[in-house]
Amino acid sequence: MRSIAIIGAGFSGTATAVHLLKRAHSPVRIILIDDRPDTAAGLAYSASQQDCLLNVPASQMSLDVSHPGELADFAARQGMRVGAQDFLSRALYGRYLADCLHSARASSGMECTRVWGRVTRLVQPRNHTRSWRLDLDDGHLILADEVVLAIGNPRPAHLTALQAIRGTNRYVHDPWGAWPQERPERAPRRVLLLGTGLTMADVALRLALRGPEPPEILALSRHGRLPQPQTAFDRATLLPDAVATLRGSSGSLRKLVRVVHSLSRQLNGVGGDWREVINVVRSIAPELWGGLSDTDRRRFLRHVRPIWDVHRHRLPPAAAQELQRLQSAGGLTVQAGSLESATLTRAGVEVIWRQRGTQQRELAIVGRIFNCTGPDYRAAQSESALVKSLLSSGLIVSDPLHLGIRLTGDGEVVDAGGHVVKGLYYIGPWLRARDWEATAVSELRNHARRLAEHLAGSAVNGWRHQGSQRGAWTLAERTATR
Ligand SMILES: Cc1cc2nc3c(=O)[nH]c(=O)nc-3n(C[C@H](O)[C@H](O)[C@H](O)COP(=O)(O)OP(=O)(O)OC[C@H]3O[C@@H](n4cnc5c(N)ncnc54)[C@H](O)[C@@H]3O)c2cc1C
Repeated sequence: MRSIAIIGAGFSGTATAVHLLKRAHSPVRIILIDDRPDTAAGLAYSASQQDCLLNVPASQMSLDVSHPGELADFAARQGMRVGAQDFLSRALYGRYLADCLHSARASSGMECTRVWGRVTRLVQPRNHTRSWRLDLDDGHLILADEVVLAIGNPRPAHLTALQAIRGTNRYVHDPWGAWPQERPERAPRRVLLLGTGLTMADVALRLALRGPEPPEILALSRHGRLPQPQTAFDRATLLPDAVATLRGSSGSLRKLVRVVHSLSRQLNGVGGDWREVINVVRSIAPELWGGLSDTDRRRFLRHVRPIWDVHRHRLPPAAAQELQRLQSAGGLTVQAGSLESATLTRAGVEVIWRQRGTQQRELAIVGRIFNCTGPDYRAAQSESALVKSLLSSGLIVSDPLHLGIRLTGDGEVVDAGGHVVKGLYYIGPWLRARDWEATAVSELRNHARRLAEHLAGSAVNGWRHQGSQRGAWTLAERTATR
């Protein structure tokens, strides 16, 4: 039987498996491998995200776009009373994904095995073998006819200014991982959060929930901009010719920026919401991104991106209000500037940072620093053994702007020599290199459906690998054994 291994069971891997189970017309064996114990949560939707909210209303988060009520229905089955415009917990969303996988598996009757393990190497099929070989970190092997890389969000970048405190309990490099545990009276009184985006908001709110005396928070980023709040905006007010107007300006970053400003003003003028313009841009982002020259893309990343990011990646309303309250109460101070150094002292960490646009240096003593700069998507900086081996073998290659890797329109990987690697696919945030917008559910669910259709299509039209070694996968299965 044809086998498809999906490495990574976060949103992208799970969504691909669900769509594949629904669409495959001939039997397929799916092997879903992830190094986390949760069934289908990945980084964003694990049980530890119970206190964090989705930044999009329930009606826009269903796995299947044609069933917008699916997530709210799932929540109702859990005994919750929710409306389509409610912002639900990220942990609940992870359980919803696991439920979708479970239902799709049950109704398809096909085999979908969840393996708990870390893939460290991928060996390409040679003439005498038609299967990909996946090496796991504990020495087990998995053979598969096709492989989907759904390895998701990497850890944040290592910052040179933090070199001196790396590895100490004064520094949290990965805010989504475990935090140092200490008795409340020993918890830091003052902390520095590096970055002022959605990750900072998550960390600040988590810290604010701690005990009767949460720490005083200083948040620092180059521009010091906080994400805009989300609203349940009224789609009915959308300007009818917005898409055509944007398309008319494609090919020029300058014109596009002007058009986005003017559409937003127009929409606000007729009682609409500028957020809808951002959504329209997102809906045709691959086309607009594809039409820009390399120079304009670089210009976008340098000058426009900081503004785009705070309007595009928005805060759930309750989180925005809570941050606002924290700021007004003096519990959170947001500054624009850059970190120059962090030194361990007996009192904690001595931080020197420079105000944006000035030579003025500021000194702060904090008990802990959290790296809230977000995932470092540069493949060359990856700490993953799998990514390192894929890069060194030339099976994957970074795009020129280091946003992701080179891929075809079907999500097939393009190698360092510019050749399509047959049978190796990618889905996840690295699609930014091709489409720019590729990190949220609304984009990734479409990619997952299209990839599943492509994979299912190859099954309908006959085996992609004729004479594939039927049943040859020798998986030493270790489902949930650690
Ligand atoms: C904290 C956070 C909150 C978000 N909130 C929202 C939101 O509210 N709304 C929205 O639309 N989008 C949100 N997003 C964006 C989007 O939904 C996520 O980026 C999504 O997690 C992408 O899914 P993924 O499967 O590609 O990556 P991931 O979730 O990172 O999953 C990848 C999985 O692969 C595993 N893995 C990696 N390498 C290996 C290996 N070698 N072997 C085995 N397993 C491996 C990882 O452990 C992980 O479980 C959020 C993102 C983050 C980070």
